[in-house]
Amino acid sequence: MKKLLALMLALLMVFAFCGCGEEAVEENTEVKVLTMGTNAAFPPYEMVDENGAIIGIDAEIAAAIAEKMGMTLEIKDMAFDSLITAVSSGAVDVVLAGMTVTEERMEAVNFSESYATGIQVVIVTEDSEIATIEDLAGKKIGVQTGTTGDIYCSGDYGEEAIARYDNGAIAVQALQNGQVDCVVIDNEPAKAFVEANEGLKILETEYITENYAAAIAKENTELLEAFNAALAELQADGTIDAIIGKYIKAE
Ligand code: GLN
Repeated sequence: MKKLLALMLALLMVFAFCGCGEEAVEENTEVKVLTMGTNAAFPPYEMVDENGAIIGIDAEIAAAIAEKMGMTLEIKDMAFDSLITAVSSGAVDVVLAGMTVTEERMEAVNFSESYATGIQVVIVTEDSEIATIEDLAGKKIGVQTGTTGDIYCSGDYGEEAIARYDNGAIAVQALQNGQVDCVVIDNEPAKAFVEANEGLKILETEYITENYAAAIAKENTELLEAFNAALAELQADGTIDAIIGKYIKAE
C-alpha cells in the first residue's frame, strides 16, 4: 500500500513538472495580447451584450487592428475618467472609448490617427422649454464625469450648472426624473438613449464636433506606429467603414 502511495506521489510530481515545462514552452510562442481599456456604456461604440461580452465599434476596430498586428485583443471595462491614467501607467496598452482628442489629454497620452467623428448634442425631454444651445444658460446640465461634455459645459456654464454621472445612461435617467434639465453627450450614444427611453429628444442645434482616436502611452511609440499603420490599411480596404456602418445606419 505504501509503495503504491509512493508511486502515485512520484507520478503526480512528474506530471506537475511536465505541466510546468509545457507552460514555459507555451509562453515563448504565445500570441501577444493587446489590452484595451474602455467604458462599456457608450453605445454603439462600446456596450455589453446579453452574454456579458463587450461589443461595439471600438471593440471591433481594436480587434481588427490587433489581428493585423498579430495580436489578440483583451478588453478591460473601467470608469471613463480613469482611462487616461490606465493607459499612461501601462495598466492597459490602448484606450478606445469614443475618446475625443483634446489638447489637455494630449499632454498625458499620444493619440492615434482619428477613426471617427463625434458631435456633442443636447438631450431634453419632449416638452422641454430648451430649444437651442442659447437656452442652456441657467439650466442644470447632466454630463458623464470627465467627458468633453463635462469639460465644455463646466467651462461654458460654470461648475454649479453641472451634475456629473458615472455614465450616460444614468445621466439620462436623471433627466427623466427631473433632476437635470438636459444631458450633453456624444450624438451616437444620445440617439441610442433617446431610442431606448420614452419622451426624450435631441436638439437640432449641435454643441461641438470632435475627433475620436485611440490613446496610447507617450513612451509606447512603437505601438503607436504599428497601430496607425494597421489603422491606415483597414481604412484603405474599407474595413473601418464596414464596422462603423454595421452599427450606425446612414441617415
Ligand atoms: N467623446 C467624449 C469624450 O471623449 C465621451 C466619450 C465617452 O463617454 N466614452 O470625452
